[in-house]
Amino acid sequence: MAQTLDYTKAVEHLSTYQEKDGLSVEQLLDLQLHGGLTYNDFLILPGKVDFPASVVDLETKLTKKITLKTPFVSSPMDTVTESNMAIHMALLGGIGIIHHNCSPDEQAEMVRKVKKYENGFINDPVVISPSASVGQVKAMGQKYGFTSFPVTETGKVGGKLVGIVTSRDVQFHEVDTDSISQVMTTDVITAKSGISLSEGNEILRKSKKGKLPVVDGEGNLVSMISRTDLQKNLDFPHASKSFQSKQLLCGAAIGTLDADKERLAKLVAAGLDVVVLDSSQGNSIFQINLIKWIKSTFPDLQVIGGNVVTREQAAQLIAAGVDGLRIGMGSGSICITQEVMACGRPQGTAVYKVTQFANQFGVPCIADGGVSNIGHIAKAIALGASCVMMGSMLAGTSESPGEYFYRDGKRLKSYRGMGSIDAMQKTDTNANASTSRYFSEGDKVLVAQGVSGSVLDKGSITKFIPYLYNGLQHSCQDIGVKSVAALGKEVLAGNVRFELRTASAQLEGGVHGLYSFEKRLHN
Ligand code: IMP
Repeated sequence: MAQTLDYTKAVEHLSTYQEKDGLSVEQLLDLQLHGGLTYNDFLILPGKVDFPASVVDLETKLTKKITLKTPFVSSPMDTVTESNMAIHMALLGGIGIIHHNCSPDEQAEMVRKVKKYENGFINDPVVISPSASVGQVKAMGQKYGFTSFPVTETGKVGGKLVGIVTSRDVQFHEVDTDSISQVMTTDVITAKSGISLSEGNEILRKSKKGKLPVVDGEGNLVSMISRTDLQKNLDFPHASKSFQSKQLLCGAAIGTLDADKERLAKLVAAGLDVVVLDSSQGNSIFQINLIKWIKSTFPDLQVIGGNVVTREQAAQLIAAGVDGLRIGMGSGSICITQEVMACGRPQGTAVYKVTQFANQFGVPCIADGGVSNIGHIAKAIALGASCVMMGSMLAGTSESPGEYFYRDGKRLKSYRGMGSIDAMQKTDTNANASTSRYFSEGDKVLVAQGVSGSVLDKGSITKFIPYLYNGLQHSCQDIGVKSVAALGKEVLAGNVRFELRTASAQLEGGVHGLYSFEKRLHN
């Protein structure tokens, strides 16, 4: 029998091995040995835990000049990011990229809303006109889940405030056809615009009211403060804000057509911080020329190019001057590009190959698409990404656009690819986002690269993003690194190790052998 070694020397004994356990990242991503890998094809081996998860720092770069407290970015899709999503992504330390499947003016208005957002003030309250009926108010209560609405002459924000209608006014009112001017409260306690949130809260507390409309000097409705929101408004310590103006950071996507230059000018005028050039194949002469034009026309604007999955694509955009890159082709949950176009790359390999090249030039990269759990986020970062962009993970939240609907007893929201026929045929505005993303604006027959579907209600991102945040901290703790930045460094130093997962290892890593179970991801 071999001699038993002194157990107290177990740690020193490790130095007698030439290599650490597992594979280095180069060995893992060796194309000749393993082919292209997706996030599910490998695992990260655990390191040593000698610190609490709560100290793990998730600060990271979005672009050369923008640093975020968290690596979370919402995708520019018309079922994912409009102003409400962008506001909450920024409040929670990430950033939202507003989609462009709408007119330039509509998109600029969404950017403006994010930039003008003041924590605690509802800048876009649901408003009604005095001629609306009691029945309409009852129906709106069911639709929105709240029953207090300010009433303005125009039925819009900016109109003269003439009253407020609450559930108490309509609940027992039997004649649904009566107009609300007969039941609303006209003696409304208001606050003047310019008031601070804490002053507003104080008025609410003293007056014992639920809603406080904020009006300008002429009595026009500007915004509102709501008692039920007080708790939510308290603080967002990670909020992504611009250094000088203290406004929330906002991104928006545009295409690479000539008309997009005009669109961009409107977005910049609305206060845009970062533009994403939205193309499924970023290495085009249109994008390269546009990057150069933007860098010379709007030198302060950060530009994210893409999408790319190879070094060669990345090099062209880096040389044109991008401040960040977006990586992914065919990995999105709604995507059929790889099937239809024969082009694309497994996302793990794409992220590694592009980031290893781009990071040498100081260009941060976003891993875009294919993220469906916290483990995928940790893996994307381990492979060199600075941020992750998510579509399906954030679709179906209360901040995503669209109404909930029920099917088979489940509460759902629509989620569709921007290359789906549905999205490409959106013709109600002079939108061109979807077709231009896929170079299809001149086509008579549209070739879909995405599908249209639905996702389950995920609740609010004010709970979901903190779940991702804490989860990623715990993942880093297991790996033994104290920050997102350290994860990238330790991988390259060969200290964080990997292992391939066989098909049966993947089965073993999922829930198995149970008769039934409930998968609740957070409380
Ligand atoms: P998910 O997070 O896996 O749902 O992927 C979202 C990403 O898929 C987006 O950020 C886009 O890069 C990409 N994408 C969006 N629409 C389409 C489409 O119709 N076809 C292919 N990819 C799409």
